[in-house]
Amino acid sequence: MSVANSDPAELAKFNDLAHRWWDPNSEFKPLHDINPLRLAHIDALAPLTGRQVLDVGCGGGILAEAMAERGAQGTGIDLGEKPLSVARLHLLETGRSVEYRGIGAEALARESPGRFDVITCMEMLEHVPDPAMTVAACATLARPGADLFFSTINRNPKSFLFAIVGAEYVLNLLPRGTHEYAKFITPAELARMCRDAGLDAKDVTGMTYNPLTKVYRLGRDASVNYIVHARKPA
Ligand code: SAH
Repeated sequence: MSVANSDPAELAKFNDLAHRWWDPNSEFKPLHDINPLRLAHIDALAPLTGRQVLDVGCGGGILAEAMAERGAQGTGIDLGEKPLSVARLHLLETGRSVEYRGIGAEALARESPGRFDVITCMEMLEHVPDPAMTVAACATLARPGADLFFSTINRNPKSFLFAIVGAEYVLNLLPRGTHEYAKFITPAELARMCRDAGLDAKDVTGMTYNPLTKVYRLGRDASVNYIVHARKPA
């Protein structure tokens, strides 16, 4: 499964670790830890019950499943084969219902333009060659009036220190080489990608991690991790 706007080396990183995706003490611990926060944020701004929800770059399905549990009609797409098999297997354990597909956002956008009420694309844009193309595909997939959520990592000296040096070398929260500084995206750049795709960027919410208390929080500090909420004009 290789398409233009995907990087085989990036997909391989996630494939290699995929069997540990649902282990809350694995390399995926940060995703487990932030999941209740981002789920509550999304559900507050775009209530999920009964909505057609698409999770782009869903990986093993941590967020996709949680959104389904909140009542969303969920679809998850990813180009990693193993993360998707893990996601499908996990449904057997939980009995939840999500449709998982190995297809890129651009290809799905050609197939189902305007289909989704809510689209999430979390912790993925910093792993693709052309994030603006992914944002544009998400915009096409959204129905008029739909809500979109993109999360990624800011690019500045502090984010280098926290997201790479701190997370990968000091605290060992993530494997070394998970993130590449040059692929980080500033909120202004992401807002611009949204505008260029015809979306209104509504809000930037920061996500911070305190290494002493090990607590993640949402708030105004978007200097490292952050979530953009955008809306497709009705
Ligand atoms: N969004 C999930 C997983 C984040 S990990 C979460 O936040 O819980 C990043 C995921 O993006 C991996 O599963 C990887 O396979 C996927 N990915 C990377 N490049 C991609 C691309 N071009 N298209 C689709 N998925 C991609």
